[in-house]
Amino acid sequence: MISQRENRIRIWLLIALTGLVFGAVLWAQSPSQPTGATEAPPPPLVVRIYYQDIREIQELQSLDLWEYNNLEERYVLASVNAALYRSLVEQGWRVAIDHTASAQLSHSFDRAAEFFGGYRSVNELYALLESIDQAAPQLTEIIEYGPSHCLTEGGCTTPGGDNWPGVPLRAIRVTNEAISGASSINGGTVTRGEKPIFFLMAGIHSREITTPELAVWLLETLINNYGTNADITWLVDYHEIWIVPTTNPDGHWLVELGAEKKYGGLPFYHRKNANNDVNADGSADCPVWPPSSYEQYGIDLNRNHSFGWGPPGSSDQPCNMTYRGPYAASEHEVAALESLVRALFPDRRGPLDNDPAPVDTTGIFITLHSFSNLVLWPWGNSESPAPNVDDLKAIGDKLATYNGYLSCQPSRCLYLTNGSSDDWAYGELGIPAFTFEVGNEFMPPYVEIDSRQWPDNGPALLYAARIARAPYLLAHGPDVLNLSVSADGEQLLATAIVDDTQNGGDAIGSARYSIDIPPWQDGAQQLPLQPVDGVFNDPEEAVEATLDVADMEPGQHILYVEGQDAGGNWGPVSAAFFTVEDIGTDDNLVITFSKAALDHLAVPGRMLSYRIDGSLITPESGPLYTFRITDQPPAELTIMPETIFVNGVSRPELYNPGTHSLHYEITGAYTEPISVSITFSATVAESATIGALLVNQAMAEGSINTGAPLFLTASDSVLVAPAVTHFYLPIAVNE
Ligand SMILES: [Zn+2]
Repeated sequence: MISQRENRIRIWLLIALTGLVFGAVLWAQSPSQPTGATEAPPPPLVVRIYYQDIREIQELQSLDLWEYNNLEERYVLASVNAALYRSLVEQGWRVAIDHTASAQLSHSFDRAAEFFGGYRSVNELYALLESIDQAAPQLTEIIEYGPSHCLTEGGCTTPGGDNWPGVPLRAIRVTNEAISGASSINGGTVTRGEKPIFFLMAGIHSREITTPELAVWLLETLINNYGTNADITWLVDYHEIWIVPTTNPDGHWLVELGAEKKYGGLPFYHRKNANNDVNADGSADCPVWPPSSYEQYGIDLNRNHSFGWGPPGSSDQPCNMTYRGPYAASEHEVAALESLVRALFPDRRGPLDNDPAPVDTTGIFITLHSFSNLVLWPWGNSESPAPNVDDLKAIGDKLATYNGYLSCQPSRCLYLTNGSSDDWAYGELGIPAFTFEVGNEFMPPYVEIDSRQWPDNGPALLYAARIARAPYLLAHGPDVLNLSVSADGEQLLATAIVDDTQNGGDAIGSARYSIDIPPWQDGAQQLPLQPVDGVFNDPEEAVEATLDVADMEPGQHILYVEGQDAGGNWGPVSAAFFTVEDIGTDDNLVITFSKAALDHLAVPGRMLSYRIDGSLITPESGPLYTFRITDQPPAELTIMPETIFVNGVSRPELYNPGTHSLHYEITGAYTEPISVSITFSATVAESATIGALLVNQAMAEGSINTGAPLFLTASDSVLVAPAVTHFYLPIAVNE
């Protein structure tokens, strides 16, 4: 190809310069690094290959094009050796060394016992699946869905004499098995269930070692937050999240092998599987060893799928980085994966390229790759739009709002790919399927998983799970954010923001909730939430509803809220846990309480005495308690502070003239029953109405630990009598 001939003179000048640098680097190192079965090859470099029209990239298919395309400056990255470099130059390409990316090839990390500064080996990934499955047997199920290539061969031996027995291909299903509708797993056989499925696969390109980590981080997030995070709880209860941490374990092992001392301590950039003899004739298809970052043996499994298999987006050369294999789905890793996915998802798309899947298609599929910060959607093998392109784009654009990536069809932002996983899942079954190109390099320091890759992609993956019930529909509807439930007197108030700004920007039309039964289940009672500002008219609306909890059982409940835009699109559910307190009873707490006036006649201007007795008893010892007694007499009575005694001890400070009340409170660690006796006197106002009944009410409140308080009230009443205490009875005088 030469589409840049007009620039040839200038390019040659540039090449002459960069070629000199490249040559000096390469040749200077060659004499000190003789080639041999146990020696690493001279370090390759990464170059930028500039293009004018994105279609020109197809002519670079024989190279190790990285999954990166700089659309602004119009270049792709490829790892090359000196011969490839010269060949590019001779063909007229403008080529420049990318020093940053080249340096990434020879990263050295602080390597602990782990395979590469924290990245997990295949064996460690598998051990993690087992430990999670043992810790959460009701939520997880491991399935071995087939053998790796090396396992079927009875083991693989590299030209360097390294042995690897191969492993079963492992997926893990996350769902609450106690809730009906799950798929059934019988050995290696799976039968479809009714729960919507989010299928996440990683590591099909084994050198993309951040991707298995993200997959198991999602797994751990689901398991560790089940039961405490309401959203994760409903996702796991009513969905299946299938995770395949590495769909290419043999290849992953080859990556690990490079980290061994005899190979120089740096992981091999092995991308493909470990099959080097596709016709089983005993001779190697590709003689290259060890695997370099630009040529290696094996089949590119992400070019081997049975949909769209073939050129132009793949190679027929065994050493090529995109070698597609001898025929579609020739590789065990691909054939077994396709069988598993077919068993889990119904086929919702017709046979023609232009047959759309129905909009209510259930399930979603994501395959994790690296790198270049992209969210890709079908078709990968064509510039034509997929029949569901509007909905695929809407989902991809939405996912990209979480990780900040560019959402696009590969022909517009990367290059054509044939036989890839996402094209297969969508093309064959109609499942909305996406490729994430994660991050900025294949093997960043492990801390970047925590600091960047998971924060970027974890929320995107969880969103995919949230819409798995009907992705083509739900991605158009608003999110429900900041959902919370708070006490509002004896009611509970639910508040949330319904937000369509990232889902089309339509005005919000309505919002509704259900309690304990999610909205798609039979028996769910749907009730509206109201706009706080009185009218639904903005793309972002605060909503609220008072929840009637009178008839609810005490304990934890879950609130489901969903919003709808003015166009009628419902978004995914958000949920929050809340607790209904049983106010008024506490099995562990007994309060007794009484109040009595010592004289039942109040006399204006005189004094009246009271006695309050209370006790707090709990059969348990040790918990913290709080015990309060409050007395607020009617207006005709004024407590005399100097007369207040608690258990015989003067406590004048308990009277607060500002509130006209007596308040006694003790807290502490409970060891013995608490008894309190309070005596005090009050002055009766001169203006007290003769004949009135003064009701004097006190309240006691106790609680233990942080449990619900128990309230009691006690009253006594006195009759206001005339201010006469002596009556002179007329007597007869006999004179
Ligand atoms: Zn990849």
